[in-house]
Amino acid sequence: MTNQYLVAVVGAGPAGLFGARELANHGAHVVLFNRDIKPGGLAEYGIYPTKYTMKAGLRKQFRQILENPNIDYYGNISIGAQGDLSLDDLRNLGFQAILVTAGAQGTKWLGLPGEDLVGVYHAKDVVYYYNLLPPNSQQRYRFGKRCAIVGAGNVMVDIARYLIRQAKVDEVIAVVRRGPAEVKFDKKEMEYVIANLDQEALDREIARVRPIMEAVNQDPEAARATILEALPKAFEKVSETCFRFEFLSSPVQMLGENGLLTQLEVEDTTLVLKDGDTKARGTGNKRTLDVETVIFAIGDKVDESFGLPIEWNEFVKNSNPAYPVEGISYEAFDTQAGKPMDGIFVGGWARKASEGLVGYARKDGINASKAVWGYLQTKQPDESALEAVTAKIMGLRKPAVTKADIQRLEVIETEEAQKRGLEEFKYSTNEDMLRAMGLTIAA
Ligand SMILES: Cc1cc2nc3c(=O)[nH]c(=O)nc-3n(C[C@H](O)[C@H](O)[C@H](O)COP(=O)(O)OP(=O)(O)OC[C@H]3O[C@@H](n4cnc5c(N)ncnc54)[C@H](O)[C@@H]3O)c2cc1C
Repeated sequence: MTNQYLVAVVGAGPAGLFGARELANHGAHVVLFNRDIKPGGLAEYGIYPTKYTMKAGLRKQFRQILENPNIDYYGNISIGAQGDLSLDDLRNLGFQAILVTAGAQGTKWLGLPGEDLVGVYHAKDVVYYYNLLPPNSQQRYRFGKRCAIVGAGNVMVDIARYLIRQAKVDEVIAVVRRGPAEVKFDKKEMEYVIANLDQEALDREIARVRPIMEAVNQDPEAARATILEALPKAFEKVSETCFRFEFLSSPVQMLGENGLLTQLEVEDTTLVLKDGDTKARGTGNKRTLDVETVIFAIGDKVDESFGLPIEWNEFVKNSNPAYPVEGISYEAFDTQAGKPMDGIFVGGWARKASEGLVGYARKDGINASKAVWGYLQTKQPDESALEAVTAKIMGLRKPAVTKADIQRLEVIETEEAQKRGLEEFKYSTNEDMLRAMGLTIAA
């Protein structure tokens, strides 16, 4: 065997998997570490559960990537300051470069009073819950009769879809800081929920915010038409949930009784033009919405405890990169030492949290790997540490899940789905998955 570069890729979501493939195709030996047992990241545990065709297509691509003999996979292994291995461990083990594609695992809270009440959640946790990612899959969530979702993007719509079509709650209110012209969701996603949209309530909202929109040269009719664009392809109603929008409303605090959420207080906002963009500014006028659940779908941030320096919710990048790709820096930067972190790169949602869809993460993972490859050209290939790396991983006090294990799990889950007459079957705890694969559960 020819000598190869030895690279660690941390996180097997789309960015990590496609990035690993890029490096492996160049001839590097990649060890792919993944916190979750299964590969796929948010493609497995974020994308809406019933998008079966899309998920099956992605799983097939991921399976093909893992067939590459230049890629080793270790699921159920967390990297980071509080992980099973730290970045320093990886460096000391002899990896020549480390690409971090661990996604955006931090939670972006607004820091409002009442965030600790039962019934107040962050979108990522809810999405992990209904996609059966342990441990969220085992936690209890309180979806009351009336639920507010803060946000105006596709994640808001996904959660509305869950509340309308699965949980079948009475009312879902999308609370939007700006106006009807600034919603960010796609028509395609709206098709799943628009049959439940209270159109009279939408018209009342548009009438209410019309003067504010017109004052910043927005066209209320055009915004209304865009929101309703999904109507011709609306999915059939499966519940009586009333879905409505509260525009120009910014959350101020959550109020509760006995630790349980009962109300969301919002402040009315108005629109102002700033640097060519429309911003929301509070008016001071406050009102409350009676809700038992509030879900913040306002984007994610990277994991602060990972062990890389952070600024503005992101890992800090070298602003003067030595290996830029399409003008983007993928190089982690040590703010204390004032220099790039030698051999450490970031890609996908770990580089830019909540940015784009799978296609974007894929491209970003590939480009990050191109930067890694550029860096490796300054070194001699040396994979001599591989044996020690494997021994270290196998010596951890918990089972590392390999490619062969994942293949077995897939077969078992497919059989289980057939037995139960389901489109898909997923074990919802790590213990069940490990048991199914015949692995010993951690001591
Ligand atoms: C609710 C929701 C719905 C979406 N729906 C769609 C859709 O319909 N279509 C679409 O194209 N895109 C969709 N997306 C976007 C898409 O999922 C993301 O663009 C993409 O998954 C980001 O890829 P990533 O690899 O950067 O991060 P992630 O997918 O988040 O992957 C990160 C990986 O890193 C691992 N990891 C985390 N921390 C560690 C650690 N410390 N050590 C080791 N491993 C770690 C995780 O286990 C995970 O496997 C959706 C996103 C969300 C949130």
